[in-house]
Amino acid sequence: MEELQKMNEPELVGCFEDALQFDHIYAVYQPQINHSTGRMVGAEALMRWKHPIYGVQMPGDFIPVLEKNNLIYRADLHIFETVCKFQRKCLDQGISIIPISVNMSRYDIYNTNYVEEIEAIRMKYDIPVQYLRLEITESSAIGGLELITRVLRQLHDRGYTVEMDDFGSGYSSLNILKDLDVDVIKLDMAFLAGKIGGRGGTILSSIVQMTKWLGTPVIAEGVETMEQADYMKSTGCNYIQGYLYYKPLSEEEFLVKMMQLDHEPLTPGMHLVKTLDAGKFWDPNSMETLIFNNFVGGAAIFTYDVENHALDILRVNRKYVKELGMNMSEHEIIGKDPWAFHDEKSREKYEKALKRAIEFKDEEMVETWRTFVSDCCGEDRICIRTYLRVIGDAGTQYLFYSMVQNVTAEKKRDIQLAEDEARYKFAFEQANVYAWEYTIATKEMRPCFRCMRDLGLPPLIKNYPEPVIENGVFPLDYADMYRDWHKQLEQGVDYLEAIIPLTVGRVPFHVRYTLEKDENGRPLKAYGSATLVIDEK
Ligand code: C2E
Ligand code: CA
Ligand code: CA
Repeated sequence: MEELQKMNEPELVGCFEDALQFDHIYAVYQPQINHSTGRMVGAEALMRWKHPIYGVQMPGDFIPVLEKNNLIYRADLHIFETVCKFQRKCLDQGISIIPISVNMSRYDIYNTNYVEEIEAIRMKYDIPVQYLRLEITESSAIGGLELITRVLRQLHDRGYTVEMDDFGSGYSSLNILKDLDVDVIKLDMAFLAGKIGGRGGTILSSIVQMTKWLGTPVIAEGVETMEQADYMKSTGCNYIQGYLYYKPLSEEEFLVKMMQLDHEPLTPGMHLVKTLDAGKFWDPNSMETLIFNNFVGGAAIFTYDVENHALDILRVNRKYVKELGMNMSEHEIIGKDPWAFHDEKSREKYEKALKRAIEFKDEEMVETWRTFVSDCCGEDRICIRTYLRVIGDAGTQYLFYSMVQNVTAEKKRDIQLAEDEARYKFAFEQANVYAWEYTIATKEMRPCFRCMRDLGLPPLIKNYPEPVIENGVFPLDYADMYRDWHKQLEQGVDYLEAIIPLTVGRVPFHVRYTLEKDENGRPLKAYGSATLVIDEK
């Protein structure tokens, strides 16, 4: 099929009627193959125009002309009919057929009768609807979603499979997915050329992951090398249409291939837990999205591969970014290896929790410390409590929903609490520390051994702190502040500290309080300590 001479616009328009009538406009077929099994899953019909004198014309040259002259819908219907004729011929000969995709121009959707017309053709040839698929492009949504949504509904009502062609070419890709309820997604390698392995690869793999999560099969198009095919396979996309397997074939060549190869249906890569409506998740107005962004706190969707231990973050909500206090966008978070923040011990702990969640199909909780390094703030260690739940699986891969809480402050307080408790218990062993225990409910204070010995305090002081203010151990200038501290503790303030001159000598002490709460978060006890401030000079 050699292009002899490109036809110009008047020539194309002038020859159009003849081209339809004499089948100068016809279809070639490019098989779609499952890279893992070698079986055929479908084919795409691609339009060609062979002029008796000028030779074969390529769609890139004549389709824009047909679009401009409002002729494309008739050419598209002609290809649809050509495909139906071919399928009918095969069926009549008892040949087992395969679904064939036909392209729809975005101008076809402006033709309100389009769906009716293809239906009439399909009926004429009596082709079961599952053997015909329609390809639409993101550009169909230009100028509003209403029209394309209506056409999509009409097609679905009649049982057609609709494919999103050239997915990833526009930058609104991810949004279009949630708006348009398509059944198959076609990713074009050309849009991803040169990006394999790097961040582009990560983004590509998360597109595939997300589409899997939507329960939508993905076909990679324009695959020319084994490296590309294997890469797509590694991201979980097994369906390939490209020169690596076949260039577009003439009808006769295609027929031979269709008879030679085994067939299999397209299936989504991921099985979702039944309670989850993934479609809604991408709908910005759905309850799911509202919940994801506003109510659940920090949340993320990620995959975990039990075989190679890989974690891949697919989506995080706004609160996730905030909770982790990271100076990164969702995009940047998705592009990073999540394990980079964990040391070996916490990674082990986290993976154990993932495996428990998989095994018991239940929510699991795990707390791990992570280290973040940023240009502006240097290194920071934070403790994250994560609740994990499996929401889907595909082979060795599991899809997780996780909620995160930054519990660093709580943990640091626990550490401080433990230290203060210890300090209280062993105060008498330390030279410069006084410690006491204050019970919130009863306002009772129990001093350490040293307090009793050096300050002459009784083992139990009621209505604390009044007696120590009265007896002068506590300076009057600070009395109101100190009274207020006890009110604050009662109200649940976790931590207080100040430098206060104490004892008869009015020596500066570093006075601290750490609050202990019960499991309902109510204040229980406060541990007080006073450490002599030693002048370092
Ligand atoms: P498309 O729908 O994205 O079709 C895929 C194009 O990629 C085809 O180009 C195909 O030959 C080419 N291709 C497939 N595998 C490879 C590969 O491994 N490497 C490379 N470099 N290319 C590969 P083609 O046939 O030239 O069609 C171009 C475009 O014209 C199509 O892109 C589609 O947008 C349009 N088109 C084709 N047939 C029709 C039709 O019947 N109706 C309408 N409205 N548009 C059509
Ligand atoms: Ca296409
Ligand atoms: Ca395409």
